[in-house]
Amino acid sequence: MNEQTTLDRERRYLVPVARLDLPGQPDDVHLSLYEWLPQFEEWATGLALCGYSTTQGALQEGTEVTCRSCEAYRAQYQAILDGQAQAADERSARKRQAAHEADTVENGAWHTVWLESGKWRWTTSKMTTPQREYAADRVAAYSRYLAECDNDPDRGEPTGLRWWREAGR
Ligand SMILES: [Zn+2]
Repeated sequence: MNEQTTLDRERRYLVPVARLDLPGQPDDVHLSLYEWLPQFEEWATGLALCGYSTTQGALQEGTEVTCRSCEAYRAQYQAILDGQAQAADERSARKRQAAHEADTVENGAWHTVWLESGKWRWTTSKMTTPQREYAADRVAAYSRYLAECDNDPDRGEPTGLRWWREAGR
């Protein structure tokens, strides 16, 4: 697992890990979950599936796992990880589809009004709140579509889009 760039940070993987270098530890290679820790900005392993503490870090991919307890848990863990990965794929496919459905003439038109940002506040100040919320929803939807096209799905709503909510605070 040295090819860290190919790993998906949203997912967890099963990797071989080394025993703790302490007396009394069985001389085995274990299996552990490998996951991305955003607070430390790095990948980390944890306890072995069998419950033993291990040396931090994944061993080279393909290293033979010799702990029989870890091997006995492997299929069960792998099934869970595969299920999670599939659910994540389905979620992002739904999100992508929703974003593309937002590519409508109306949304695009409102987004163009928004881009004339000097006038957005003035234009929407002439509207009732339900009307401007509707207009902002159209802008936000088109903006999500553009973010999806830019492969930046986590981009948030444009700042200041719903200025009337901020003003009310
Ligand atoms: Zn083990």
